[in-house]
Amino acid sequence: MNTKDLLIKYSNPAPRYVAYPSPNIWKNQPPTGERLRRVKKIHNHSKSIDLYVHIPFCSKLCWYCGCKTEIRPEKEYYGDNFLESLEKEIKQVNFDGKIRPKVASLHLGGGTPTYLSENQLSRLMVLINRAFLIQPKAVLSVESNPETVNVAKLKTLWENGFSRVSFGIQDFNQETQWAINREHSYKDVKNLILSCRKIGYQSVNLDLVYGLPHQDQKSFLKSIEKVISLNPERVALYNFAYLPKMIPHQQLINPKSLPCSEENCQIFLQSCNLFKQHGFVHVGMDHFVKQGDSLAKSFTNGTLHRNFMGYVSNPSENLLGLGPGAISYLNHAYMRNQPSSTLWNHQLKQEKSGQDLWYKQTLSDQKTQNLINQILCHMCIKEDQITEEFTGNLETLREKLVQFEKDQILIWDGTNKQWNITPKGKMFSRFVAQAIDQHWENTRSNEEYSKVA
Ligand code: SF4
Repeated sequence: MNTKDLLIKYSNPAPRYVAYPSPNIWKNQPPTGERLRRVKKIHNHSKSIDLYVHIPFCSKLCWYCGCKTEIRPEKEYYGDNFLESLEKEIKQVNFDGKIRPKVASLHLGGGTPTYLSENQLSRLMVLINRAFLIQPKAVLSVESNPETVNVAKLKTLWENGFSRVSFGIQDFNQETQWAINREHSYKDVKNLILSCRKIGYQSVNLDLVYGLPHQDQKSFLKSIEKVISLNPERVALYNFAYLPKMIPHQQLINPKSLPCSEENCQIFLQSCNLFKQHGFVHVGMDHFVKQGDSLAKSFTNGTLHRNFMGYVSNPSENLLGLGPGAISYLNHAYMRNQPSSTLWNHQLKQEKSGQDLWYKQTLSDQKTQNLINQILCHMCIKEDQITEEFTGNLETLREKLVQFEKDQILIWDGTNKQWNITPKGKMFSRFVAQAIDQHWENTRSNEEYSKVA
């Protein structure tokens, strides 16, 4: 089947599977104190956690944005207020200083973490270091927006132990940037990256998005060439999820300016080839990393995982999320913090723990999650793993796998007794994951998931 026909056949939206089951099946608030009990249990077993802090503000709105953020131009006031509430949340999870959970990695995401001033970033790290024991080998990483980050902030973060920084580029094409309300030049980004190298950052990641207004193969090729010339350790290439009914501000984007599915697909395939030619390893669905990068190693040795931070190498079993909308995964239960920063502030002031949704995985969910992880991280699924871990109707699944093989999304490897996802099939790997998903019939809602192209 050619790519165009595949795109027509697999034109339905599908989850990205950063959690299983997908969040729209999670219900109700967790029982009072549930998150704290789980953190304590993990601490008592001397296990480390991964820590995620969600900084919920941006100074201006990007029209394509699908993240949890609030647009707040009054930086100082909102940043201070956020830190005040975060301190309360941190005091809850470390039981007012009675425990000091071990942290294997820290990631600042958003919103825009670099929305905070240098002083506020330093204060944030004082709060974290006081409450948690950051392990000597912990990796500290931060997301940034080239429009709001500066060298002083990068230095402050470096002095506080950060060694990885990610810049949201999306595209260097000016026409595309204007159509999504972004503005940063190649020169600005180049100077920022040169500063990172000078300061000592070990890893620079650049995020790109395809499927945005006015993009075509020719324009995106130029952007990819610029990206390669900047010599990043990692590149993430995401597909734009255009969901104007669910995300009303996306209506600011003229749908006629968007590339068609087939052009999108060609943009993706062309980018994959270019990264490959320049020595990048294609990891998972949408990451391209230098040989020797920890994601490339994890991809090779089978320890690559997928969670709310995307692809991660060797994560801890547990993730603690702090800040509005942050998600925790603790002893096989998901819990989401109140997404509105106003409500999150309010609940913390009332000494409440502030989660609005949770989901406790069953054993069957955990097995399914392993299978989905195997597909989306390692692009294969082993026959014996299907027999041992698949809890649905095996006959139906086998029929679907054969169909994926006919569509050249999967190919059978008789030597290793496994199905491998073909290079072209990587774009459609979410549909293979969906065939394994035991909750799909209950969670499906065409408006809530993005299409592959
Ligand atoms: S900087 Fe990121 S989170 Fe903020 S509005 Fe733009 S895309 Fe959304």
